[in-house]
Order: sequence, then structure tokens, then C-alpha cells
Amino acid sequence: MVRPDFSLSAAILDLSYLLAAILFVIGLKKLSKPESARAGNLWAGAGMVLAMITTLLLHKNAQGNTIPLQNAIVVVLVIAAGTVVGWVLARKVQMTAMPQMVSFYNATGGAASGLVALMEYGSPGNSSILVTLLGIAVGNIAFSGSMIAYGKLDGRIRDWLSPVMKYINLFMLLLTTALVIIIMIPAIGPDLAQILVYVLFVISLVYGILFVMPIGGADMPVVISLLNSLTGVAAAMAGFIYDNQAMILGGILVGAAGTVLTILMCRAMNRSLLNVIVGAFGGESAEGAKSISGVIREISVSDASILLNYSQKVVIIPGYGMASAQAQHICSELDNVLSANGVEVKYAIHPVAGRMPGHMNVLLAEAHVPYEKLVEMEHINPDMGNVDVAVIIGANDVVNPAALDEPSSPIYGMPIILANKAKNIIVIKRGMGKGYAAIENHLFYNEKTRMLFGNAKEVLQKLVGEIKGM
Ligand code: NAP
Repeated sequence: MVRPDFSLSAAILDLSYLLAAILFVIGLKKLSKPESARAGNLWAGAGMVLAMITTLLLHKNAQGNTIPLQNAIVVVLVIAAGTVVGWVLARKVQMTAMPQMVSFYNATGGAASGLVALMEYGSPGNSSILVTLLGIAVGNIAFSGSMIAYGKLDGRIRDWLSPVMKYINLFMLLLTTALVIIIMIPAIGPDLAQILVYVLFVISLVYGILFVMPIGGADMPVVISLLNSLTGVAAAMAGFIYDNQAMILGGILVGAAGTVLTILMCRAMNRSLLNVIVGAFGGESAEGAKSISGVIREISVSDASILLNYSQKVVIIPGYGMASAQAQHICSELDNVLSANGVEVKYAIHPVAGRMPGHMNVLLAEAHVPYEKLVEMEHINPDMGNVDVAVIIGANDVVNPAALDEPSSPIYGMPIILANKAKNIIVIKRGMGKGYAAIENHLFYNEKTRMLFGNAKEVLQKLVGEIKGM
């Protein structure tokens, strides 16, 4: 027998949300492996398309009305415009600018959630003030923080360090929390509450800016993953406001994945989460770091080829320069020619090498390097003393010994790949340019180090040619 309040459309809607949730989870699972990541994106995307279509067609408000046709048309047009812009951007943007683009997308998610929450504050049918206020605060922090992260990754915004920032940020965090609490006190009346909601809107935007501005050195990756999780939380808040399960679940999945990533990044970088939230962590300014003098020793392509070809164990340490030069394919070719000649080749992967989490893994997977050859930092470090040659390709901060022995350095405390333990070190980079943390690197002056200057792709091409001709 059918219950009197049974509605077929509501049941189909609920079922579609359940299906969308399953598709999100399958997508997320597939995203965890480079080989299936592309498919994972499509699965999760299919879930989102399903949820959007069924919401547009079947969602009913408290009065039992479906979405008016003119509103549905506007929504479809806006989605279509966004899809076109996203499509064009994604095709135009260079692989090396992907981290910036991800930050920008993250910012748009935060902005959308913050604006939705602002609009829905006080609207009839929206019963949860706390969720709405948190939606405003978290969405806005994610928006302005991600825009600053975008500017920093793009080299447009420089770190803004000052010892007082820590206290200002702590104050801003307390002020934001206090505003949320005060607005919820009924005694202040609706007019004052409305004004304070606008104040909260502005303050949380400012806090997002201030909290990311001082973060520099090697600490950006932690902040980027934290902002990512905040966007998820904000989207989940918006989902609660609209009582929409697909939105809640999508937001929670992003929030949870981002939180796990943040914790892993904190561990990898040896930082505490509280420091991230208050901001201004990561030690002194780059200028505070010691300058070094010493002798730079170069190596020719032919000598480097001989050294590599007659080694038993070679470890490649890729970094941002490999991504920038798009040298992953030729790097994989170098690996193939060396392996064919009996050399054992492995890759040492630092958790923050490049400009986004998993950057090196993605590039090397694209170049069909077998996944077993990629060894995480903590697993390869104990073996670095047995390595004949460490080949550093466009990496700098992630092999900088200042992280171990220079307390004044902005990267002090961050674990590094112990390239300095290898018997020989070859560094491939264009010149003496600094890395993201903008500091000198002692390793380049190490007695065992030989510099092989040039664009990573061109140098690797010459090396491969030389070894093939041997
Ligand atoms: P890095 O410290 O930024 O150094 C990259 C090096 O590559 C530079 O010193 C540069 O020197 C060289 N280079 C640039 N273009 C090149 C080219 N075409 N050919 C050859 N070499 C080239 O890189 P990293 O060691 O990978 O360290 C990553 C840094 O980024 C860390 O500080 C990390 O905290 C930060 N970061 C990471 C993430 C993340 O999630 N992974 C996010 C934000 C920030 P030359 O100019 O002399 O060539």
C-alpha cells in the first residue's frame, strides 16, 4: 500500500541523490590513483550532472512548487556560460599554471557558498542561523584566501611578513567567532543582527587575506589544502541551508578529503595545524637567511652521461623545474636508456615538490613511469647513502639542507630529500635561480655536487642522445 504522503517525484529525487553520492564516492576512490584519476573525474562529474538535472526538474519548495521555468532557464544559462568559460580556461592554461587555476576554482566555490549564505540569511524557511553564519564566514575566508594563494602561486603577490601578523590573525579569528556568536543572540534585535551580518561578511573576507598573506617559504601547500577543505565545508553549509543532500554530501567529501590532505601535509612539513590557522608561521623572512659563498663546479654532458651510465643506483629527484620545462617525457626516456643498460633508476618524491600536492606523481604518470619506481621521501631517505648519483631535475627547496641546519631559514624544520648523502650529485637547472622559498641552497656548493646548467628538457635530451651513442 502506498503511504498517503508518498510522492513519486520526491522519491525519484532522493534516489537520484543517493546515486549521485555513490558516483561521488566512486569518483573520489578512482582519483586516488593516477591511472584512474581521469575516469574518477568523469564519474564524480556524472554524479553532479545527475544531481543538477533532477534538482531542476523535481525539487519542490515548502509550498510544494517546483522551480519556476524562468528561474530554471536562468540557472541553465549560467551553468552553460560557466561550462564554456571553464572549458576554454582549462584548455588555454598551461600545465605549469594548473595550481593557480585550482586555487582560482577553489575561490569561486568559496565565493558562491558565502554569497548563497548571505542571501539566505533571514529568509523564510531557513531555520539554521548558525549554519548560515558559518557559511558566510567559511565561504568568504576560502574565497579571499584562495585568491591570495592564486596571486602568490602566480608570482603576483609577495609574502608580507611581520611579527605582529600572528597576533592580528589571532584577533581576527576571535573577532569572526565572536560576531557569529553575537548575531545569534536574540536580544540584539533583527536590525542590528542584519548590520552585524554584513560586518561578518567583510571581516571574514579581510581575515582570509591576512591569514594567507604572511605564509611563505615552504608552507603554502599546507594552506592550499586547508583552503580546499574550507571550500568543501562552506559548500556543505550551503547544502544544509537548502536541505539538499547532494550538496551536503559533495561538500562534506571535499571538506573531509581536504582535511585529510591538510593533516598529511602538516606532517610532511613538520608544522602544527594551529600555526596554519593563525597564519604567519614558517620562520623568518627569506632575507633573514644566511647568504653563502663557495665554489660552483660544473659538469659536461658527456662526463655526466658516463657517470650515469656506469652507476649502479641512480635516484632522480624531480621538482618544479621539471614541470616548468615539461621535461617528464624525456626524463622517463633517460630512465629507460639507463635501465636498459642495467642501471637501477628510482624517483624520490617529496610531498611538496612542484606547486601542488601530487604534482610530480601526476607528471611522471603522464610520462608512463611505472608507479613502483616512485619512492616517497621517508622511504628513500634511509637508502640515499647507497646511491651512486642523485640527479636533481629542477628541484631546489626540497633538497635544501638549510631545512635541517639553519634555524633562521623559512624552510627550517621541513623534511627534505637527503640528496647530500648520495655519492655524487648532479643538479640540472638553468642557472643559480632560487626556488619558491627564495633562498640560497648550500647543496649547490657541496664538494660532491656538479651543476649541469640549462633548460631541463634540453639538457635531458642531450644526455639521452649521448648515452644512446655510447
Ligand atoms: P623550487 O624550490 O621552486 O625550485 C625550482 C627550481 O627549478 C628553481 O630553482 C629553478 O632554478 C629551476 N627551474 C625552473 N625552471 C626550470 C627549467 N625550465 N629547467 C630547469 N630548471 C628550472 O622547486 P621544488 O624543489 O620542487 O620545491 C617546491 C617549492 O614550492 C617548495 O618551497 C614548496 O613549499 C613550494 N610549494 C609547493 C606546493 C605544492 O603543493 N607542491 C604549493 C605551493 C608552493 P633556475 O631558475 O636556476 O633554473
